[in-house]
Amino acid sequence: MECKVCRCECEEKFEGLILGKYKVKYYFCPNCEHLQTEEPYWLKEAYKEPIAAEDTGVLQRNLNNRVAAASVLSCFFDIDKKFLDYAGGYGVFVRLMRDVGFDFVWEDKFSPNLFARGFEYKSGDKIDLITAFELFEHLEKPVEELEKMFEISSDILFTQNTMPLPVKPNWWYLSPSAGQHISFYTNKTLDFLAEKFGKKHLSSGEYHLFTEKDIEQKAFEEVIKNSAHIYLQNAVDYKSRIASDMEYILKLKNDVKNI
Ligand SMILES: [Zn+2]
Repeated sequence: MECKVCRCECEEKFEGLILGKYKVKYYFCPNCEHLQTEEPYWLKEAYKEPIAAEDTGVLQRNLNNRVAAASVLSCFFDIDKKFLDYAGGYGVFVRLMRDVGFDFVWEDKFSPNLFARGFEYKSGDKIDLITAFELFEHLEKPVEELEKMFEISSDILFTQNTMPLPVKPNWWYLSPSAGQHISFYTNKTLDFLAEKFGKKHLSSGEYHLFTEKDIEQKAFEEVIKNSAHIYLQNAVDYKSRIASDMEYILKLKNDVKNI
């Protein structure tokens, strides 16, 4: 099987039981260290629920991601710009970021927008940074998806549990019971992807940044490590959008009624 990241020939590594019933092979690329399942024919079934029932960490993760993203934005970006949460799920993260004043919009091809209605991404919106949490492991075509994302913005902040080597069939992040994780990366795979698009790859634990900015790896690490402190320190300057967003939505509804 050809590697979906670097196109080299992969080695068959092990088998897993997807959705409790499909025996599926996992392939490892010795060149870029990407691990992928065989062609994922089960995805329609796996996405009957956009957020799997066993994903009990979803809300805590969103809170943690807010602290990390707000700190990265405060330290390295212009916080008055517009940002996009790509594959934003139910819109929890967009709402949380708007609550503390960041102009985030939402996009997701598979999930209904429950919490960020009225703040959908519109083609042509100028986006300073994309966030993509828990996305890359879901990608059937990582290179093509990144191409689309880099057309929208030159910088992507994302989370990724990097794969320990040698990878074992019982690595928890494979989570075959939900069937949604089909693509896995080490830091080397992510370096390869960044280089392919002419970006710098910075990482600190599960947080990664693909960027064109002149940010040092050490500085990124420090910001992620101290994000709780940075977040609290800056919180006084954040101007919540809760009230102004409500006014905006009420106006939208009123405009629709008056048409
Ligand atoms: Zn590869």
